[in-house]
Amino acid sequence: MNVYDSARMADVLAPLGFVPVDHAEGADMVILNTCHIREKAAEKVYSELGRLRRLKQLRERAGGRMILGVAGCVAQAEGEEILRRAPYVDMVFGPQTYHRLPEMVARLGRAAGAVLDIDFPTVSKFDHLPDPGRNQGATAFLTVQEGCDKFCTFCVVPYTRGAEYSRPVADVLAEAGCLAAAGVREITLLGQNVNCYHGESPDRGEWGLGRLIGAVAGIAGVDRVRYTTSYPADVDDELIAAHKDVPELMPYLHLPVQSGSDRVLAAMNRRHTGDGYRRLVDRLRGARPDIALSSDFIVGFPGETEADLRATLRLAEDIGFTQAYSFKYSARPGTPAAALPDQVPDAVKGERLAALQDLLNDQQRAFNRGCVGRTMPVLLDRRGRRAGQLVGRSPYMQPVHVTAPEALLGTIAELRIEAGHANSLSAVLATAGYERRAERACA
Ligand code: SAH
Repeated sequence: MNVYDSARMADVLAPLGFVPVDHAEGADMVILNTCHIREKAAEKVYSELGRLRRLKQLRERAGGRMILGVAGCVAQAEGEEILRRAPYVDMVFGPQTYHRLPEMVARLGRAAGAVLDIDFPTVSKFDHLPDPGRNQGATAFLTVQEGCDKFCTFCVVPYTRGAEYSRPVADVLAEAGCLAAAGVREITLLGQNVNCYHGESPDRGEWGLGRLIGAVAGIAGVDRVRYTTSYPADVDDELIAAHKDVPELMPYLHLPVQSGSDRVLAAMNRRHTGDGYRRLVDRLRGARPDIALSSDFIVGFPGETEADLRATLRLAEDIGFTQAYSFKYSARPGTPAAALPDQVPDAVKGERLAALQDLLNDQQRAFNRGCVGRTMPVLLDRRGRRAGQLVGRSPYMQPVHVTAPEALLGTIAELRIEAGHANSLSAVLATAGYERRAERACA
C-alpha cells in the first residue's frame, strides 16, 4: 500500500512541476514513506533521515533547497517526536492527509518552521486525489479499502491507518478504467483487510469484494486481477465463488494465519482457529483446485510455548504454502500484547523462526521445482538484471526470468518453466510463434 500511496503523492505533486527521480542526490524534495508494523521498519526511518540530512546540507551549501518529508505510519504514530529528533525535517504527514501535499509545500514557502499534518480527516482523501498518472507499467495497485477494526492484539494498523473504510464501487471502477486506458494489464486491489470491502454500489446498495473483482475483471484491457491482504474470518462465499467464476482472477491468495495454535490465535484476537483456517482452505481449493496459498506468521507471541510452535508447524505442513512471510513478534507501543507478561526472549524467537522458515522454504522450493516442465502465461512487466532478460509473474505470483525480445515487455507470454529456484523460476518462450511474432515486432 505504501507503493500505491507513493505513486499517488507523485500524482498530486505533478501539477506543481515535480517529477519522480531515481536518486535522492540533487532532488528538490525527498519524502520517506514509512512503515510502523514492526520496530525494525520504524527504526530505519531515523538512520535514513541522518543520511538525507547530509544531502540536504550539501544542497543548501550549493545555494539550493531540498524539502524533506516523512509520510506514512511512522509519521502518523510519532508525529511531533520526529520533528524533535530530526528538526531538519520540513513536513510530517500521515497516510490520510497526503492529498494536502500541495498546500503543505505552499505553507513551507510562506512561513518558517515545519508542517505537521496527522489528522484523520472526515472527508476521504480519495475525493481529492487526481486520476492516476498515465505513466504506468503493465501492473498497478489500486487501493479499495483502508484501515482496520479487527484489533489483533499485536498490531498497530488500527491506530495508524484508522477505521475500516471502503471506497465506493464507482470510484474504484473509474480508477481501474484509467489504469486500463494507460496500458495496465494487471490490477492488484489493495486494503489492510481487503476482503472486508463493502463499498457503496451504483444502485445504492453495497458490494462485497467478490462482486467488485468481477466488475474490475470486466473492464476492457484488464487481463488479470489480484487482491491483498485478506483476513481469514472475512472470506465469504461470494469471494470463494469469484475464484471459480472469474477467469481473470489469478489462482493465488495471500491469507495470513499468524499461528497454528488456537490458544495463541485467541490471545491474538484473530477470530479464526487452526481448523477453521484448514476448512476455509478446503473450500477455496474446492472452487479453484490449483490455488496457491501464501501466508504471514508471527513466532514468539507473548506466552507462546514449544507446543504452540509445533501446532504452527503442523498447520503449515497440512496446508502446504507456496510462499510465506514469517516474523519474530515485535512489541509495538500502545498495543495490548506489548503489555502482556511472558514476553518470549529474542534468542528463543530466533530459534523458532528458523524452524518455521526451514519448513516454509522447503515448501516454496518444492512448489517451484514442481512447476518445471509446465507452460504458463506470464505477464512480463520488467527488464531483468541481465541484458536481454525480462521478468514477470506467474499466475501463482512466482517471479519468472526469461530471455526474450524487448517487444514482449508488457505482454502475457506463454513460458515453459525450465528450472525452479528458492524464490523464482527460469523459463523459455514456449511457442516458436511467440518468438517469430516478437522478432517481427522488433524488426
Ligand atoms: N490484515 C492482515 C495483516 C497485514 S499486516 C491480517 O489481518 O492478517 C502484515 C503482517 O505483519 C501481519 O500479517 C503480521 O504477520 C505482521 N505483523 C503485524 N504486527 C506485527 C508485530 N507486532 N510483530 C511481528 N509481526 C507483525
